[in-house]
Amino acid sequence: MEKVDKALLDASVMPDKNGFFGEYGGRFVPPMLEPLMQEITDAYQKIKDDPVFKEELLYLQKHYTGRPSPLFYAKNLTNKLGGAKIYLKREDLNHTGAHKINHCLGEALLAKKMGKKKLIAETGAGQHGVALATAAALVGLECDIYMGEVDIKKEHPNVVRMGILGAKVIPATHGLKTLKEAVDAAFEAYLKDPVNQLYAIGSVVGPHPFPMMVRDFQSIVGVEAKEQILEAEGKAPDNVVACVGGGSNAIGIFSAFLDDESVKIHGIEPAGTSFKTGEHAATLSLGKPGMIHGFKCYLLQDENGEPAPVNTVASGLDYPGVGPQHSYLKDIKRVNYDSITDKEAIDAFFELSRYEGIIPALESAHAVAYAIKIAADLPKDQTIVVNLSGRGDKDIDYVVEKYGNDYGL
Ligand SMILES: *Cc1c(COP(=O)(O)O)cnc(C)c1O
Repeated sequence: MEKVDKALLDASVMPDKNGFFGEYGGRFVPPMLEPLMQEITDAYQKIKDDPVFKEELLYLQKHYTGRPSPLFYAKNLTNKLGGAKIYLKREDLNHTGAHKINHCLGEALLAKKMGKKKLIAETGAGQHGVALATAAALVGLECDIYMGEVDIKKEHPNVVRMGILGAKVIPATHGLKTLKEAVDAAFEAYLKDPVNQLYAIGSVVGPHPFPMMVRDFQSIVGVEAKEQILEAEGKAPDNVVACVGGGSNAIGIFSAFLDDESVKIHGIEPAGTSFKTGEHAATLSLGKPGMIHGFKCYLLQDENGEPAPVNTVASGLDYPGVGPQHSYLKDIKRVNYDSITDKEAIDAFFELSRYEGIIPALESAHAVAYAIKIAADLPKDQTIVVNLSGRGDKDIDYVVEKYGNDYGL
């Protein structure tokens, strides 16, 4: 018990100056990149407490993104399940339809202040690409987005959006042609001109300072949610649930509750179609510590320690690694990491649509599915806050084509 307390205390001041969360994180990059990463770290450390920067970001969060996002009591779903009260943190209502705009605005403003010309990034479901293309248009930077060829087909509307916003979408054509390959391609492009470009990583992954910086930009979600649930219920939530791909929406909401041990925190990964290698992306449930994209974390790996193939119905969760802070929170047992299958996520997608009139992103549907799973067994005076990370418009064609028959469509 004492050990956990000490670890929790550490967690509140994490990472250390080298970007480590316990043994995870760090910065494992080619020597030529080291000074550039340090430059980003220094620039960020300087800017984050600068009153002008803070005010600019605050203004955009409020008047551009539409923050604070509401905390909505899902009464119909709650009544149907007959247990704990389910609240939804409506990140789906942000401009561009997901939580990713929170860190993209921060990263774009930072790039602008550093005198960069171009933002580059990978994207899975296309949400990070759209959010970054949006932020780039707003602050006046060029934008190149790398995307797996498979995802380009699956997430067509987002590809069109990025083009309209003035970004260039560049297909990643090797390997499985999904998120991991997109990161590989974006990294390679970044290495070609790290002076004029900023690689705006799309989650709490990658080398230091990205896991820290992206978390800080996302922490607004938790700060708001904590205040909102206090106002609605007069007490802290009993449970907080979020889906975990790289882990940015999750750490964003978790960070406000980590030091309150009365709050149970659940991070939900995609179990895909089975726990066989290549048919899921349940990194924290089934991975082992390893190295990917310049940092150490739990990693799904093959016999050679290389990142294993992953698959899930939710493109945004399709990553064999996970944020270093989540890896640490798993080891100290502060967060319960569990998983939800494709089928359960699709059920939740329709259930939320039909009971509440809210079409969730397939990623977010994993968190909703978990809340549905635990709600009925919890007393009625308990609460569950679900981070509804994004809206499902991008997924509707895919869902109807693949699963429509089972749901009367
Ligand atoms: C990208 C995305 C995710 C997964 O990314 P995290 O960094 O794990 O939050 C989850 N939900 C939505 C809607 C997304 O677009």
